[in-house]
Amino acid sequence: MKCPFCGNTEDKVIDSRMSAEGQNTRRRRECLKCGRRFTTYEYVEETPLMVIKRDGNRQRFDRERVKAGIIKACEKRPVSMDQIDTAVDEVERKVQRETDREIKSTRIGDLVMEKLYDLDEVAYVRFASVYRRFKDVSHFMKELEKFLG
Ligand SMILES: [Zn+2]
Repeated sequence: MKCPFCGNTEDKVIDSRMSAEGQNTRRRRECLKCGRRFTTYEYVEETPLMVIKRDGNRQRFDRERVKAGIIKACEKRPVSMDQIDTAVDEVERKVQRETDREIKSTRIGDLVMEKLYDLDEVAYVRFASVYRRFKDVSHFMKELEKFLG
């Protein structure tokens, strides 16, 4: 770390302690050239996971939004809040495994659909019809046929 007094870049850490909440580490350093002491702080870099929307805009990944979408699809269906919470957890974990920076909203939609597919077919089709914005009825029917066949 560059000494603020003489500009020398060599120092030794004489004390290092973590803040009470563990959010930063404070280090006391001593310049090896001029012997003066100074303090540095170390923080974890927080890079929010961003979702790329259809229009190209970005917004922070928000698990509550995912949950709201699943709840809406499961309305009046025999799906418990426990099952919904588990599905949201799994989607979030998959998202985090795939990226730590950006993910397309359509990819999140696909992950949610995979979960709903296992959970409840009506919820799945409801979600798919909104999410995929089926352009025509035949596409929608094809999805439905997976369950009717
Ligand atoms: Zn110095």
